[in-house]
Parts: sequence; C-alpha cells; structure tokens
Amino acid sequence: METKNIKYPYLPEGRTILYVPENNIFIQSAKNYASKNSLDSAMPTGSVLVFGGVVVGLGANGSDYHKTHECERVKNKIPTGQGYELCEGCHPKNHSESKAIENAKQNGFDTKNADIYLWGHWWCCESCWNSIISAGIKNVYLLEGSEILFNKTDPSNIVRHQFDK
Ligand SMILES: [Zn+2]
Ligand SMILES: [Zn+2]
Repeated sequence: METKNIKYPYLPEGRTILYVPENNIFIQSAKNYASKNSLDSAMPTGSVLVFGGVVVGLGANGSDYHKTHECERVKNKIPTGQGYELCEGCHPKNHSESKAIENAKQNGFDTKNADIYLWGHWWCCESCWNSIISAGIKNVYLLEGSEILFNKTDPSNIVRHQFDK
C-alpha cells in the first residue's frame, strides 16, 4: 500500500487516501455490491465498511430520482464535484460512503476505527468526508489507479465500461 501525490478536488486537512490492488477482497466486495445495487448507470460506486477483518456495512450510490427528473446539477450546469445537495438524485445521502456508514449503524455496529473501501470513484466529496470523520473511520481505501480509471476527465478512464472485465 502506498500513498500518492494526487490532487484531489477535496481532501480534509490531515487526512490521506490509501490504495489497494484489484485482488483485495474488500475492494472486490465494494465493486460487486456496486454492480448489483447501484442506481447510477454512469458512475456506479460501492463502499464497504470493515472492522477487524469483517464487513460491517455496505452501500451503493444513486437513487431513482434521475429516472423521472432531469438532474438539477446538469440543468444548472453545476461543475463536477459540486452542489450535490442541490439535486435530490445527487444528494450526498445517496453516495455509497454515507450509505455504508448508515448501513453499519442500522446493523448495530460501532463505526469507530473501522476502515472504508470505496470502489468506483477517485475521491470523496466534502459531505462524505464529514460523515467519514464523524463516524470515526480510520482509513479510506481506493482501488489503485482510481484517479485514472474513474476520472471523467482522464482519456484512459473506464467510465461506462466499469464492469466490462
Ligand atoms: Zn442530479
Ligand atoms: Zn460523497
């Protein structure tokens, strides 16, 4: 595991993101959960909360809102990564990180010192980081290469082909 010098759109003071390879079982669980449960067809994400080597919470992003409503952020040309709270469908409560944390709490698990594995994105938004911090989560892990694979502005990304292989 290594830390990299990646310029994230948002990263709280004193925090970092760690990386795991594709064969990591928790990043695989996060991908698997996203493939089955995400309601976001363009950027499906999955999060797995792990404590003591055991999965305590699962979350996948998205909501039904965009099926019946135009995205408020698209409509108002809100830049990527901003204004999630302006659209019911994009709201941070529908992000996989927040959902995994909620899921762990609903299952009666203490989230303190758990780790979170996020598949399908290359950074966490401010609202999710706030949830991660207030839940007492220790480490945030992403898939190695996420900053390319899941970055809409990178020409080598796999957006819309996330589950091809
Ligand atoms: Zn939206
Ligand atoms: Zn988020």
